[in-house]
Amino acid sequence: MEKTGQCLCGAVTFTAHNVEMHHHACHCGMCRRWAGGPVFAAAAERVTFAGLDHAARYESSEWASRGFCRICGSHLFYHLKPTDSYMLSVGAFDDGADFQLAREIFVDHKPPGYALAGSHVRLTEKETLASFGFPEDGSA
Ligand SMILES: [Zn+2]
Ligand SMILES: [Zn+2]
Repeated sequence: MEKTGQCLCGAVTFTAHNVEMHHHACHCGMCRRWAGGPVFAAAAERVTFAGLDHAARYESSEWASRGFCRICGSHLFYHLKPTDSYMLSVGAFDDGADFQLAREIFVDHKPPGYALAGSHVRLTEKETLASFGFPEDGSA
């Protein structure tokens, strides 16, 4: 299935295939600083962009970059370099009605002032890193 999306101003658009409709929410400090709150992102394959000259990439770590529109500032994607895979902002999709929150990650970094409802999986930092296959010393 193919899904489309765009930034707030429409300068950057994307088309993605095999979008993971059961997405995650990340509460890690980098995501919260980047987005102003948890990042809701869905893995996708064969992602193509139009208007990429209006987008910028911030190299947020050795293994990942974060993309946004340089005109309107919309957060568009998280890109994992080792696997060349994209996670797209759930809110950027044109039709987000079918998305379901399946997993909260870095939940022990979530501020106490809000909570996401539902009986989905909630992983601490240690559990999140283990699920990614990273070492447990927090070096990720
Ligand atoms: Zn824009
Ligand atoms: Zn995060």
